[in-house]
Amino acid sequence: MKLPSIDHIPVPEPLKEPVERSDLEHRDLDDSEFWKRIPAFRHVTPDEFLDHRFQNRNSAKSPQDLKDLLRDLAPESFLEDVEEGMRLAPMAMRISPYILSLIDWANPYHDPLRTQFIPVASTRLPDHPALTLDSLHEQADSPTPGLVHRYHDKVLFLPLDVCPVYCRFCTRSYAIGTDTEEVEKVDYKPAVERWDRAFAYLASRPEVEDVVVSGGDTYMLPPQRVRYIGEMLLAIPHIRRIRFASKGPAVMPMKILSDRDWTDTLVELVAKGRALHKEVVLHTHFNSPNEITDITRRAMDVLFERGVKVRNQSVLIRGVNDDIDDMITLVRRLSFINVQPYYVYQHDMVMGVDELRTRVADSVEIERHVRGTTAGFNTPTFVVDAPGGGGKRDVHSYDHYDETSGISVYRSPSVDENRVYLYFDPIDRLPEEGRERWEDPEQHPAMVAEALSEAGLEDLEPAATVPDALVPA
Ligand code: SF4
Repeated sequence: MKLPSIDHIPVPEPLKEPVERSDLEHRDLDDSEFWKRIPAFRHVTPDEFLDHRFQNRNSAKSPQDLKDLLRDLAPESFLEDVEEGMRLAPMAMRISPYILSLIDWANPYHDPLRTQFIPVASTRLPDHPALTLDSLHEQADSPTPGLVHRYHDKVLFLPLDVCPVYCRFCTRSYAIGTDTEEVEKVDYKPAVERWDRAFAYLASRPEVEDVVVSGGDTYMLPPQRVRYIGEMLLAIPHIRRIRFASKGPAVMPMKILSDRDWTDTLVELVAKGRALHKEVVLHTHFNSPNEITDITRRAMDVLFERGVKVRNQSVLIRGVNDDIDDMITLVRRLSFINVQPYYVYQHDMVMGVDELRTRVADSVEIERHVRGTTAGFNTPTFVVDAPGGGGKRDVHSYDHYDETSGISVYRSPSVDENRVYLYFDPIDRLPEEGRERWEDPEQHPAMVAEALSEAGLEDLEPAATVPDALVPA
């Protein structure tokens, strides 16, 4: 497009210092053939690497796959650490060649992408006594398998149980991916009969206007299945908003460019929705600015040009994005490629990954610095998904927070006005006094009782996921 020239107009005297190059770091998107750093991909051409079928075929699904792909790039001791880490992990392994190629293999212990997808035994911490596998209590709010109806007007539909990658910190480690030595998964296979039961329930519930299609991951559904789900939901008159959720743009952006049928199907559903005055959008999940390359920009440009709105939901993860500058770069980089930063979640209280959680205080402090660095509509809301099914609470909205015991107390009157929802900071990040109290199980109910008393909410019942051993008598 030819833009009008303004070269002849004198530039007004600036009031601000010129920006440093580092202030624009978020626009530096890797456009190199970065995958050639991986020995097994040294001779892979751009055409091959940009094909989603190559990505799926060459994903690493075991420590042995990692060894075969990396050869001598990662030290033997690191790979042994991974093998031991996998024995204890609640999630199976699956890493796309795209993500594998973006990891700094000279420093894998501190790389934010390695940290998200590849467990190592040496950094593992004991689980907090309050951790559970289904911390959000989703199965208790399911009228039919794979449909969570907690909020008045919104549901979560889980059509499948596979993803293009498996994240160590997944909230649904109780269901997503293949069984591990630690966890036998709940079955959410993509079965049309199961889906139809969910649609029948939704058609019978006039209050539901909003459906999140998550999982599992929409990226892994063939286009005709995506169309089936989209059209069935669009056909229900009271459903006004449909969000397809996919980690795909963050871990395999080339699919948007190379799987034309899948992208066309999403674009068609957005257009059909628009014709019916309904919103169909894509929600995705970038956590680190390192996940965003020039391939991502090109993929997001295609969606933007074709009218698909994309929003992002990050998880705050220790060693991944809990640095203020990294989070600011992530927010700015997402905005730059037209992905709206929507939420940053406090890490859920899932088992087996306590070294990835941060304190509520960290979330509050990072939010304080992020707010004001860009436009308000591109500033994510920092939330705690209240353990036990309280839904999303603004991280600042606790009734009480004790940084020594690490207990924060939230209420969620729209879900249940008679309950309190508790979040517990990871024990290793507490001051000495707090760590010592958690070492003594007899102190646990007393700490919870103190937090409820300080909040003035001792008459309310803690959410059902708080283990009995922690509930005051
Ligand atoms: S992509 Fe989402 S659903 Fe899949 S493993 Fe990661 S966090 Fe879980």
